Amino acid sequence: MKEYFKDIRLCIGTGEFVSDWQKLEVGIMAGCTISPLAFTMAMEMVIRASKWVVGGERRREGLRLPPIRAFMDDMTLLTTTVPCTKRLLERINTNLRWARMRIKPSKSRSISVTKGKVVEQKFTVEGEEIPSIRVRPVKSLGRWYNADLSDREQVEQLRKDVVEGLEKIDRSGLPGKLKLWCMQFGLFPRVMWPMSVYEVPLSKVEKLERVVNSYVKKWLGVPRCLSSVALYGKGILQLPINSLVEEFKCAKVRTELLLTGSKDRIVSGLAPNPSKGKKWKPKVAVQEAEAALRHGEIMGNVQIGRGGLGRTSGKPMWRKADQKEKRRLVVEQIRRQEEASRQVKAVSLAKQGQWLNWEGVERKQVTWRDLWSMESNRLKFLLGATYDVLPSPDNLRIWTDGDPSCTLCSGVATLRHILSGCKVSLAQGRYTWRHNQVLKCLAAGIEMRRQQVNAEGSHKKGIQFVREGEKSKSRKVKEYYTGSKGLADAGRCGGKVGGPSRNSYH
Ligand SMILES: [Zn+2]
Repeated sequence: MKEYFKDIRLCIGTGEFVSDWQKLEVGIMAGCTISPLAFTMAMEMVIRASKWVVGGERRREGLRLPPIRAFMDDMTLLTTTVPCTKRLLERINTNLRWARMRIKPSKSRSISVTKGKVVEQKFTVEGEEIPSIRVRPVKSLGRWYNADLSDREQVEQLRKDVVEGLEKIDRSGLPGKLKLWCMQFGLFPRVMWPMSVYEVPLSKVEKLERVVNSYVKKWLGVPRCLSSVALYGKGILQLPINSLVEEFKCAKVRTELLLTGSKDRIVSGLAPNPSKGKKWKPKVAVQEAEAALRHGEIMGNVQIGRGGLGRTSGKPMWRKADQKEKRRLVVEQIRRQEEASRQVKAVSLAKQGQWLNWEGVERKQVTWRDLWSMESNRLKFLLGATYDVLPSPDNLRIWTDGDPSCTLCSGVATLRHILSGCKVSLAQGRYTWRHNQVLKCLAAGIEMRRQQVNAEGSHKKGIQFVREGEKSKSRKVKEYYTGSKGLADAGRCGGKVGGPSRNSYH
């Protein structure tokens, strides 16, 4: 180790410029693999040599809190009396001095609490005073600490940040789907961290989500009456955006599991509640999710859909999962519960929940790639038609009191009537025309694919059946596929769909 650090030199380089070699005197080099380890080892030694002068707080649960806690060069001292703190400060200062390090009092903060109230108490290091948290609040590991010992201010700040961010995106003048993308990948990741470190109550997040919803609807160009089920649900039509409430719940549950599942007995024994408020408690949510997962395991793998027995892949076992896997399963379960509650909400919606009664309809998942290729009006129509919020005469009658009758016949012009129920349209051949337009698109697509596959020339390997007593002719078959002879033989397997390329529709 001594040899390694004896004559160590470093240089700093940017894209076009590299500095001269410098000798390192103080500090840890970025990029060195040994230095951080050596530093933590030395710090551990300093901590162990200092902490024996005081006892540390004993909690009701029987656990004794360590008087010194540290993360790299950040240190927290926690004792029960003023003399204890002074003694500990002195000791740690002496030991750090011995290690040629120094406490910076101006960068440190002190806080004294007597009977639940913050009191003013001065601490000094070598005559220099440590400012109290009352005078100067401090930010540590991305979290602000101030004198009122609650997160109310920070939660308010978070709300302001979200609203401001949304307004900024709204003013940007981009098309709606790009605004949506900015929110999903620019704004949300930035608010997730404060949301998981501060004690944010669920009611505040729900309020925030309502603000988010109004912007999302505006950007998608859908009417304001569209429910949030349509925006975040994974039912008949799934959009690629996440619900703020769902992400909040998952983040809180993850924090809860991380703390309670910690290997450190003190951390797991004294895990704080990561979310304030009575409406939703992460602890209870975790218990419910775990119970549901255990119950699911007892039920075993049930058959879903029309696949044959054993076609569905098995669920991971709760009992056998390790800590990380369990965390993942619980978060998944929380998401499922959220989706279930959205479904319940959808059932109660007479108009926008009609899709629940549709049978045999393929679920549609709109990805970002789909969104880029879609015109904004198409997406608007898709959403409107799925949840019946298009401005059809019947809907307009409900919204603004107009005439609901069809312009062609005398019937009531609901969405269904216009799309597939008008007798005059049927007689005039409008539906046939639309039907043929769709077929035309399909035919063009199939033709394009057929030509593409034929142009490729090579063919994928199909399944070869071997009869009882026969030997596999795999090598012979391969020749058919690779050689030009294969094309001529293609008809033998009875798959002559689009000319010689029988694999084109696999
Ligand atoms: Zn009509």
